[in-house]
Amino acid sequence: MESEPEDSEPLEPGCPCPACATFSRAYVHHLVKSGEILGAMLMTQHNLWFYQRLMQSLGDAIAEQRLQAFASEFLQRYRRLN
Ligand SMILES: [Zn+2]
Repeated sequence: MESEPEDSEPLEPGCPCPACATFSRAYVHHLVKSGEILGAMLMTQHNLWFYQRLMQSLGDAIAEQRLQAFASEFLQRYRRLN
């Protein structure tokens, strides 16, 4: 999803990572466009949290034998965002 310069939402609403808890999409967008290394650091932090949460959720879904339902919900959610 392309962020708008005035967007005050976090990178991913509901994400508990420090980058999302602290900074808006607009600020991260500004940092990236300005070539500030903090922009890349914040996006990396968010991405690592995202993948950690995804792997934990996949492990839980496999253990609880609901992987197909989890995969369907995940794909529905993230296809909407793109
Ligand atoms: Zn985040």
